[in-house]
Amino acid sequence: MSSTGKLTIDLDALVANWRALDAMTNVETAAVVKADAYGLGMDRVARALARAGVRTFFVAVPKEGVALRQSVGPKPEIHVFSGHMAGDTDMISDLNLTPMLNSTDQLIRHLEALPGHPFGIQLDSGMNRLGMEPAEWAAVRDTVLAANPVLLISHLACADEPDHPMNAQQLAAFRDMTDGTGVPRCFAQTGGMLLGADYHFDMCRPGIGLYGGLPFSGAQPVVTLDLPVIQTRHLDPGETVGYGNTFTATRETRIATVSSGYGDGIHRIMGPKTVLYAEDTPCPVAGRISMDSISVDITDLGYDPKWLRILGAEQTIDDLADNAGTIGYEILTAMGARYDRLYIGG
Ligand SMILES: *Cc1c(COP(=O)(O)O)cnc(C)c1O
Repeated sequence: MSSTGKLTIDLDALVANWRALDAMTNVETAAVVKADAYGLGMDRVARALARAGVRTFFVAVPKEGVALRQSVGPKPEIHVFSGHMAGDTDMISDLNLTPMLNSTDQLIRHLEALPGHPFGIQLDSGMNRLGMEPAEWAAVRDTVLAANPVLLISHLACADEPDHPMNAQQLAAFRDMTDGTGVPRCFAQTGGMLLGADYHFDMCRPGIGLYGGLPFSGAQPVVTLDLPVIQTRHLDPGETVGYGNTFTATRETRIATVSSGYGDGIHRIMGPKTVLYAEDTPCPVAGRISMDSISVDITDLGYDPKWLRILGAEQTIDDLADNAGTIGYEILTAMGARYDRLYIGG
C-alpha cells in the first residue's frame, strides 16, 4: 500500500463535461488546460480531450504550450493568454503557439520578431487585468486587422453571477470593439457559456466546468482523493490531538492519522468543517491539519479503515472550497505533487 494519497481522475467524466458544455452552444468549444489542467495533469487531460474532438487549447504561458505540444502533436491550435513576452519568441515559433497579444508593446514585438506567425488579440472589456483597452485598440486596430489576427478575445469578470450588470456591460464593450472586424471572436469561459447565446460568439473556452466545478452545476465530478491511513490509536478521555491541543477526547476515542496535509493543498483552515469518508460514513477531522498528516476521529465508525476519502461525490471540490473560504479552482490547482495520479476511462 502506498503512503501517499491517491488522486483518481476520471477521463470519461472529463470528456462528458466537455461534451455537455459543447452541446449548450452552436460554436466551437475549446478547452483551457493552464496550470497543469487545473492540477489534474495536462498531458493525460489534453490527450483525452483531443481524442474527444477538442481542436483548440488555451494555456496561460508559452512554457505550458511547449509541454502541451508534446502531448497533443502538431494539429491542435494552442493559444497563449499571456501573449508574447521578450524571451518567448523561440517557443512561440518552434512549437507553433498562438499568442493572444495584450498590448501595443506585445503587438510590435510579435510583428517584428515573427512576421506572418499567427496571433490573436486580447481586449480589455472592463476587467482591467489583461488586454488592450478601447483607446489603445482604436489606435492599432487597422494595423492589427491588416496582419490577419486569428482570434479576438476578452474575459468576463463576473460571469459566475448571472445577474451581475458587469456581464452586459462587458458584452457591450466587447461588441463595440469587435463588431464588423470579420475576425473570429471568443468571449466566454465556463460561466460566460451559461449566460446564453449572446455570449458565445465563434468559440467558447471553458476550464473549470470540464474539471467538475461550479458554476457548471451540471458537471460530473472528475476527481476523487483517497488518503491512506498510516496509523490508528486509542485515546482516553482528556487526551488531546495535534498542534495546539485543539481537539480533546471527551470519551473513549479512536483516531486515524492519514497521509496528506496543507503541504499537499489540504488547506489548514478547512479543518474544522471538513470530514473524511469511510465508504458512506463521514468522520470529522480531529484537531489541526498538519503539513503531512491529518488526524481523523473514527470512533463512530466501529472499525479501522485503510483509506479515507476527502474529495469525491460526497464532498466535492466546491464543498472543500466553502470549508476553506475559497473557490473550487484553488482547491484543484493546490492538489499536491506528492499524490499518485491515477487515470481511469478515456
Ligand atoms: C482561466 C481562464 C479561462 C477559463 O475560465 P473558467 O472559469 O475556468 O472556465 C478562460 N479565459 C481566460 C482568459 C482565463 O484566464
